[in-house]
Amino acid sequence: MSVLLDRFLRYVNINTRSDEEVTDRTPTTEVQWDLARLLEQELKDMGMQNVHLNEKCFLTAALPSNSSKKLPTIGFLAHIDTSTDFSGEGINPQIIENYNGKDILLKGKTGLRLSPQEFPGMLAYKGQTLITTDGTTLLGADDKAGVAEIMTAMDTLITHPNIEHGPIRIAFTPDEETGMGITHFDVDAFGADFAYTVDGGKIGEIEYENFNAEKAFVKVRGKSVHPGSAKNVMKNAMLIFFEFNAMLPSEQRPEHTEGREGFYHLWKMSPGSIEEVEGIYILRDHDLYKLNIKKQLMLDSAKFINQKYGDGTIEVQMVEQYRNMSEVIKPVMHIVETAQEAMRALDIEPITKPIRGGTDGARLSYRGLPTPNIFAGGHNFHGPYEYACLESMEKATAVILKIIDLYVNK
Ligand SMILES: [Zn+2]
Repeated sequence: MSVLLDRFLRYVNINTRSDEEVTDRTPTTEVQWDLARLLEQELKDMGMQNVHLNEKCFLTAALPSNSSKKLPTIGFLAHIDTSTDFSGEGINPQIIENYNGKDILLKGKTGLRLSPQEFPGMLAYKGQTLITTDGTTLLGADDKAGVAEIMTAMDTLITHPNIEHGPIRIAFTPDEETGMGITHFDVDAFGADFAYTVDGGKIGEIEYENFNAEKAFVKVRGKSVHPGSAKNVMKNAMLIFFEFNAMLPSEQRPEHTEGREGFYHLWKMSPGSIEEVEGIYILRDHDLYKLNIKKQLMLDSAKFINQKYGDGTIEVQMVEQYRNMSEVIKPVMHIVETAQEAMRALDIEPITKPIRGGTDGARLSYRGLPTPNIFAGGHNFHGPYEYACLESMEKATAVILKIIDLYVNK
């Protein structure tokens, strides 16, 4: 068995599911320590320097330069937790060598199959090795594929001291899936000039654009009186909320948008009464100017409602969530271009597309560490249909090494 596959299987075997409901501590689950401690030991055994696991479960390590040239310090990051949405307990992977392009039975659940009819992307891997779940859990390629690839790349550099490289930093981080972990990452202590998260999907993916994201908390207060004597007195908070919602463009919803199209998304709503109803929207757009227009339309709509029904009927409170990292990365595009060049050198066609979401890298970029995202080789994250391609994972490892090499020889 390949060293990379062996590592990957060792890591997915450890349940590291994070918990979105927990908001007062990092890591959100104790189980994440199990993998962090294993990786800490493996990094030490491998010969990495300054291996440090901090009190919030962030594991960092360094590989000093072996070059006489002055080279930038490059970081590589992957997250150790798996999705809060689906079980990561007792993962029992199936390894399909020389995939024949047909349905794959997920043997843990009768009748469940991974089919190229539903997931045509599988056909690209005919003849290659696929790693699937048994249908009862997720796989955890998101992002243990990234962890295994970074580990294997570091191991390669240490066991081949003749390969010239600059200073390298790596980090394995908790709670990516909750969206909150990375806020506790110490960017200054990490000490990299720029970094890559190895947390993308299929082979070739490289991402440096993500949404600008805002959350809007909307509260409508009504007036409840007996319906028999309600004329000109009753204000029905629920109906006023519907009226407000109807003022937002209905074509700009997640279910009607793609690519670089932004949206308003009514994400949660309280059960509501005549007296009161609350809703939470998320607003998304790659273009900050367009996001601000969306915000303004919401505020103008609220103003109209208050003019119509009286001041204080509706309250809209906006909270910034994250910003598009492309603003930070465009001035240092060599980071993206070098990754694309590394892929081409390995016969991989780079697929550069905007993320319809956020990444840990987006938050890091705004804190001074420009961090685009590169593929790790998995598909269908967060559920039982998750699978990874071993050859893609090997290529991801090769891309990491090639990026390091290109910065030596630039
Ligand atoms: Zn991920």
